[in-house]
Amino acid sequence: MATGSSGSKRSRRRRRPAVTVLRIGHRAGRDPRLSTHLALAARAFGAERMLLHPPDPDLARRIAAVVDGWGGAFEVAPAPEWRRVVRDFDGPSVHLTMYGLPLSRVRARLARAPRLLVIAGGAKVPADLYRLATYNVAVGSQPHSEVAATAVLLADLLGIPPPGPWPGARRAIVPTARGKRVDGGRGTP
Ligand code: SAM
Repeated sequence: MATGSSGSKRSRRRRRPAVTVLRIGHRAGRDPRLSTHLALAARAFGAERMLLHPPDPDLARRIAAVVDGWGGAFEVAPAPEWRRVVRDFDGPSVHLTMYGLPLSRVRARLARAPRLLVIAGGAKVPADLYRLATYNVAVGSQPHSEVAATAVLLADLLGIPPPGPWPGARRAIVPTARGKRVDGGRGTP
């Protein structure tokens, strides 16, 4: 399936950071939907991969099946030692927390980085993360969710991807005012 994007257009665009999302505090078997939704949102809004602590091969397989159908190169990889991931990452790390600095204060610095590690917590966040991360960043200073915070940050930094098939996709949505249309899949009227 053709990707429909032109190389010349892409080269005129501003370079954007390559984003890895690190999800800590995953509770395999307890709330698989939340981490699954985080992975889906991270993929849909332009992250390259999600590292998962503790690892969950079932979740990684489910996301691989989504990538197989809808394209792109996103993957979920295990992060048995999340602190080492933060320390060794080749770029700034951004811990999403409602207690952090407003996104508007750090956006320009984040946008200039070639690579970003975005860290999303779970029900309880280890205290040392606030010190380990390069930035503690709030997406609004009210409590909400790791999925919302990650999606808004990515949309803000990378933009919302336009419709159209992704590389390697077996199917793609054809936007329509009503009903469901899928190119290469079984849409319903
Ligand atoms: N009570 C937890 C704590 O110790 O911070 C937060 C729990 S919250 C349900 C789960 C995750 O959502 C947080 O770790 C954070 O990554 C994200 N989050 C929630 N509200 C946020 C906000 N306003 N800005 C950025 N991230 C937020």
